[in-house]
Formats: sequence, structure tokens, C-alpha cells
Amino acid sequence: MSPDEFRKHAHQLVDWMAGYMENVENYPVKASVVPGEIFGKIPDDPPLQPEPFSSLMRDMDEIIMPGITHWQNPNFFAYFPANASPPSVLAEMMISALGAQCMIWETSPAAAELEEKMMIWLRGMIGLPSVFEGVIQDSASTATLGAILTAREKKSGFLINNEGAANMGIVRVYCSEQTHSSVDKAVKIAGIGKKNLVKIPVRNDFSMDPEKLREAIIGDKAKGYIPCCVVATIGTTGTTAIDPVRSIGEICSEYGIWLHVDAAMAGSALILPEFQWMLEGREYIDSFVFNPHKWLFTNFDCSAFFTRDAASLIRTFEILPEYLKTRTRGKVNDYRDWGVPLGRRFRALKLWSVIRSYGLEELRRMVRYHISIAASLAEMISEESDFEILAPVTICVVCFRYNPRGYDEKQINSLNEKLNHQLNDSGKLYLTHTVLNGIYTLRMVTAQTNVTLEHVERAWARIKDTARSLQA
Ligand SMILES: *Cc1c(COP(=O)(O)O)cnc(C)c1O
Repeated sequence: MSPDEFRKHAHQLVDWMAGYMENVENYPVKASVVPGEIFGKIPDDPPLQPEPFSSLMRDMDEIIMPGITHWQNPNFFAYFPANASPPSVLAEMMISALGAQCMIWETSPAAAELEEKMMIWLRGMIGLPSVFEGVIQDSASTATLGAILTAREKKSGFLINNEGAANMGIVRVYCSEQTHSSVDKAVKIAGIGKKNLVKIPVRNDFSMDPEKLREAIIGDKAKGYIPCCVVATIGTTGTTAIDPVRSIGEICSEYGIWLHVDAAMAGSALILPEFQWMLEGREYIDSFVFNPHKWLFTNFDCSAFFTRDAASLIRTFEILPEYLKTRTRGKVNDYRDWGVPLGRRFRALKLWSVIRSYGLEELRRMVRYHISIAASLAEMISEESDFEILAPVTICVVCFRYNPRGYDEKQINSLNEKLNHQLNDSGKLYLTHTVLNGIYTLRMVTAQTNVTLEHVERAWARIKDTARSLQA
């Protein structure tokens, strides 16, 4: 494809993209295809001869779009959002045009230095102390793996990377029963073992009970186990419960344990002064992750990872083959040593574009608005006697269920499951569920980039109507 042809197709494509943004609300939120449907429409063999780009665009509309779940539709209330925004999409276009590999400073100094500066911006925006140094990772899962590996290395006196884990003893990691599954994955990969991930019971508000944490650590030490890392969550995936960082941090500091904080979703709310209380006890935190690719309008992937002990992180991950030796080593940040992959995308450009295009005040206004919508929804739900709220509404997630009289718990669970499927099949909105104390719980997240109170009011009207027309 020549630059001239590229120019022509790119102009058409930008029109396609802007049209999509304008119309995204009119697509069914959740794709309703059956397994194998898209696969069957793609030829079994690649073309031998060049095809015009226009035929790809036609297939994009006819084959691919019906199989897309529209995360940018404001009626997307499922999981946590993966928010894009026009400024982040523009930056993504520049990133792909440059196609730069940003593994070390020399392979694109601007990428390394902009990343360093963006992490300083974000650190200030969310109120982390200035001793923290940051790096962009692909996901919170990778960042948490990095934190646990660093904690493990530090605990072993940096022996395991060299000698293997044969003599490491039984290393223990702690998190709450509500912690994200990425922690389960990390302890498996880190050679610690799922058996040694201790799930601490939660209190009534689904936050970790610090006294139970202390008991678990004391019990483990008595058995000769090695307490290594605690993962506290600010904003759990199920209900956005906030673990008490200060109480947990005091325990970690008493027993010499690495404290990692997973704030994947709720970290974005820290840009609001009125949510800074969630970081109370920040002086105890060793590492912290949050995802601008969830709720800071920066399309996937862009996860911000911070640590106060970058030296230990780098010692855990660094490699130095001959072909990566440079004259600038030690004077600059070579981010390949800050995590798992060698190759790295120029993701800082997305943050730069988003933060400059909106400005901090507008970002605050948007996040604050989303939080206010959740509060309004909670109020609407509590006005209906046949619905109930099942967890405190702290940020932007409302957990609830339909609970009409005359049914037992099992029937109510299956009624709500049916309700969830029927709502999602309508294409008008998309909700996902969690299970809280055995209760099938509907979750509604009011944090999509384009969501307004009107979208949520319409969704709520549909939820009520659908629920009341259901037969158990
Ligand atoms: C979404 C989420 C994760 C995983 O994020 P990825 O970036 O997809 O790995 C981890 N922890 C919490 C609390 C989350 O909400």
C-alpha cells in the first residue's frame, strides 16, 4: 500500500471511526452470535493475491461488527469498563504509525522520557508520595505479578532468581476473599503455589478484616512459613470494597511484609480530593497499581504501576545480554528491566493526549459525575420494595437483586440469573453478576465514558419491567 493509498483509506477509516463513535449507542451492547459463527465466515485459507482494502472494510461491517460487544456503548454496565476516548484513539493512531519498540531508552528516548514524566503526573494526580517511581504495564495482572515476584526476591535475599526455588521454604501471600483472580494467577506463576495464597475473611462491607490477617500471619510464622506479601484492594471487582490500607500496612510493617495495593478500577477516583481517604496509610505501601485503561479514558492497554523500591523491582527483572548493552545504561530508565516483556509499546503517548485534552479538572468532573450516577441509581433501587441493595455503594458499582415476596433463596437466585440473561439478550444494556454470601447479585457499573443519568434511568426502567414480568 503506497502512502497515497494509505492516505485515502485512512481518511475513509477516520470517517468510519467517527461514525462509530456517533452511533455506538444504537448497536446491541452484547454480541448475540453463537460460538463458531464468526469463525465459519472467515475463509479457511489466506489469499494468494492482494485484495483491496475496501473488501476488508466491507467484511469488517458484515462479519466482524455483529460479533463485537460494544464496550464504548453508554449502556455497557458490565464488568469494569474499558474506556476509550477520542484523544486516546488519536494517540493510538500515532503510536501505530511510529511503530516504535520502546524496550530501552535508546530505542526511543522520547518514549522512555515521556513515560517517566507521565508517571510523575499520574503519581501527583492520585496522591502517591513522591518516593514512588512508576512504569506503564500492559495490565494490572502483570503489575501484580511483578510486585509478588519482587517481594519474593527481596524476601529471599535475591537468591531465587539465581538458584531456583528448591530451598525457598513455604512462602505465604495474603489477600481477602474478595481479591481479584489475578493474584491467584500470580502466585501460581511465581512458584509460590495457590495453596500458599491465604484468603483472609472480609467484614460486613466486604473489606479485608485486618485482625484476621494478623491471626493468619502469626499462625503461619508459628509453623515456620515465610509471610512475604499482602495484596490489599482499593475497590474490589465484586463490590468496590476498600480494604483498610493503614491497618493492613501497620501489620505489614511489623512483620516485614511487602504491601501491594491493587486499585485497578478505583485508583482513578483518587484524582478526587474527596476520595483521598482511600489512600490513608499510603506510607506503608510498597507497590501500587491502577488502570487508566479502565476509568481514565485511555483505551486498553495502559496500566500504571508504582513502587517505592524500584531498585528491587529492577534487580528482579533485569537482564543484560550483549546486544542490549548501551552507553547510557544507568543514566536513564530502560523499562525492559521493570517488568516481564522485553518489547514495549509507546503507551505514554495515550496518557499525554488524554490528560492534555481533558485537563485534570474535566477528568475530575467526569469521574465525579459517574460516582453521582451510582448514588442516584442506588436511591432509585432502594425506593422499590421488591428490589434490594446488597453491598455498600462506595464508588461507581451498585450491587442489587430482585427480591419479590413468596420465593425461597434458591428460587430468587435463579430468578435473578434469568433476569440477567433476559436483559443482556435484549441488546439494550449489559450487566454482569457476582455471588455475595451465596446470593446471585446483579452488578451495575456506571462508569462508561459516555454514560449519563438518562441512560441509567432508562436501564433501570427496563430492569424493573423485565423483572416483574418474569415467572420463577
Ligand atoms: C480489572 C481488575 C484487575 C485485572 O486487570 P487487568 O488489567 O485486566 O489485568 C485486577 N484487579 C482488580 C481489582 C480489577 O478490577
